[in-house]
Amino acid sequence: NMDMLLGVMGDPIAQSKSPVMHTAALKALGIPGAYVPLHISSSQLGEAVQAIRTLGFRGVNVTIPHKVAVMEYLDKLDESALTGGAVNTIVNDNGVLTGYNTDGIGYVRSLKAEAVPELSGTRILVLGAGGAARGIVSALLKENPASIVIANRSADKAQELAAAWQVTGKVTGTAMDGAAGIIPEADIVINTTSVGMFPYPDELPIDPGLLHGRLVVSDLIYNPLRTRLLEEGLRAGCTIHGGLGMFIYQGAYAFEYWTGQAAPTEIMRRTIIECFGG
Ligand code: NDP
Repeated sequence: NMDMLLGVMGDPIAQSKSPVMHTAALKALGIPGAYVPLHISSSQLGEAVQAIRTLGFRGVNVTIPHKVAVMEYLDKLDESALTGGAVNTIVNDNGVLTGYNTDGIGYVRSLKAEAVPELSGTRILVLGAGGAARGIVSALLKENPASIVIANRSADKAQELAAAWQVTGKVTGTAMDGAAGIIPEADIVINTTSVGMFPYPDELPIDPGLLHGRLVVSDLIYNPLRTRLLEEGLRAGCTIHGGLGMFIYQGAYAFEYWTGQAAPTEIMRRTIIECFGG
């Protein structure tokens, strides 16, 4: 039996916490193998995907900026990749490459475990309409929320994204300004923009004066672990939920596809927190 070869393709890639997290998971379960960072530029992406087969990698994660572009090089796309519109996990079954999106289900699992056990009937405001928002909206819809409003700096992108779920009658798009009218009636606000991420931790995606105590405020960002938006949420009496759990669970689902074994999520979490000097 061969060692299990795994990795993550991105550009840049040096900052990724996936190698240390998955290496710890492999070690904890005694699985011989390695998970390595792979610095791949956009012009090399096709060759790099071919190399998964050539080199006998069991699988890879795919991160910025390749999550959409990689789809055309794969043999099969799981339903999660089709509805999420992006791939963050590739599984190699004897040369047949299948793309999955574990970001959306990873996020929802984290939100339910840490902040909102029951999402049915909730009114959700999603800030941002990029790649992460798309996967998250598709996973949230499976939980039967009452409504999802997508607010984005570029309103046309929010409307485009909402139109993709027009059949559900539950998703609408608006400009970021529209958030002000939605928040008073919302149960959950989810920041999927990159506003507030390292190295600009002082930025806020919305006016914090809008936050109220009945809200759950959730942020996908996990660097810093507690964003300024979450700090403002705490101050306003909100329940807060950060992006670390999403990162752990998207990795856990990928790990389970590759190894067929339950991922050691507590060890993965501890490893990341140690990385941040926690
Ligand atoms: P994209 O580049 O696809 O989307 C970025 C989004 O942020 C867009 O909606 C964009 O709006 C908005 N945005 C960027 N800058 C500004 C600004 N100055 N003001 C207002 N809006 C802005 O990125 P992703 O969707 O891939 O990632 C978004 C965030 O989610 C990142 O912080 C990333 O780290 C985090 N993430 C976390 C994960 C986890 O595991 N916890 C997994 C994946 C992502 P516009 O359309 O107008 O440009």
